[in-house]
Amino acid sequence: MTDTIFGQIARGEMEADIVYEDDLAVAFRDLNPQAPVHVLVIPRESMVDLNDAPEVEAATLGHLLQVCATVAKQEGLAEDGYRVVANTGDNGGQTVNHLHLHVLGGRAMLWPPG
Ligand code: 5GP
Repeated sequence: MTDTIFGQIARGEMEADIVYEDDLAVAFRDLNPQAPVHVLVIPRESMVDLNDAPEVEAATLGHLLQVCATVAKQEGLAEDGYRVVANTGDNGGQTVNHLHLHVLGGRAMLWPPG
């Protein structure tokens, strides 16, 4: 199992600006925000990226999306909309090898992404 900074945040060993947490997931503000609201949602369970999804409890993965919705509502993004992103692997631009969902909002997003 690969340990990462996000694993340390999930275990409470590393400080983060946590906006939501429960038994399965932690949500905290990105250190280098790309939008007025930029929150990362991670599972407490260590998994590298979406390629691990077939081996993980579907309920855990579904829960992560529910946490994104909870955070979006809490941050006042639900009405105007927001974006949820899972960068995966090198071509996806992933830099931290612990699955994370970016919740981005507070401005209009461009499409296609760069
Ligand atoms: P990725 O590029 O892997 O999809 O996203 C990793 C994200 O983690 C980046 O947006 C980066 O700014 C953020 N990040 C990296 N290290 C830390 C950290 O120690 N704390 C927090 N809160 N965010 C981090």
